[in-house]
Amino acid sequence: MAESPALLDGGCLCGRLRYRLRGVKSAYWCHCTMCRRASGSAALPWASVARPDFEITAGTPSVYESSPGVRRLFCGSCGSPIAFDMAREEDVDVTLGTLDVPDALIPTHHIWTQSALDMSEGLGATLPRHPAERPDET
Ligand SMILES: [Zn+2]
Ligand SMILES: [Zn+2]
Repeated sequence: MAESPALLDGGCLCGRLRYRLRGVKSAYWCHCTMCRRASGSAALPWASVARPDFEITAGTPSVYESSPGVRRLFCGSCGSPIAFDMAREEDVDVTLGTLDVPDALIPTHHIWTQSALDMSEGLGATLPRHPAERPDET
């Protein structure tokens, strides 16, 4: 992965929950069925940081235990998924899409591709790109 910025800030849709990352270890796409449900998306991009390098700077996250020892942190007000914290691992994973500058990190690999959806192939690389809404749907 390209050199990542030392400090990265992010937050939820409504702005009540804010966080800061110090030093990201890796970034990747997860195609597992639980990330799909948690995000409502075909796949979810994550950034991994050491647990002490993930700091909540505003608000208090709501927690859903998706498996024993696995905590999914989200905003209880607007529902944005924020972090994935597995007790037995040293790292916390944070949703790339909630960073203030998501393009600061580029995912380098995919995990759980055995459950990847057909629609995620190439992650849209070959599809038409529209800057905002599809022109024919307005
Ligand atoms: Zn929120
Ligand atoms: Zn996942």
